Amino acid sequence: MFNISERHFDATLDELKKEYHSVVASNKRLIDELNQYNKDAVIQRLSQQLYNQQKRCLHDLIGDEKDKYYTFRRKHYEKCKNNNHYIVELTGTGLSESITVKCPKCGESEDITEYSMW
Ligand SMILES: [Zn+2]
Repeated sequence: MFNISERHFDATLDELKKEYHSVVASNKRLIDELNQYNKDAVIQRLSQQLYNQQKRCLHDLIGDEKDKYYTFRRKHYEKCKNNNHYIVELTGTGLSESITVKCPKCGESEDITEYSMW
């Protein structure tokens, strides 16, 4: 036979009831949330965010351009102690834009354009 006091049994039963009601409430909340989920609204909101970001962006870094940009920055952080002042120049070419980054502390610049994706 079980050796459990009636008081301990009642306390355990109360805890189980609380847990049960908590799970039932969570289940109801999640079902309501699922029923209100509208994937079209989410897609539209994210599309709008993407459109807004593209509208504000002068140039998308493609291919290795981002890596080249950060490699250049790291190099001049160490060499020139340039923490975060760089000049980025975009030049329209008719095909696309070339992109050059320059360190104003030493004057060195580098064409980081990913020409393979033109
Ligand atoms: Zn430099």
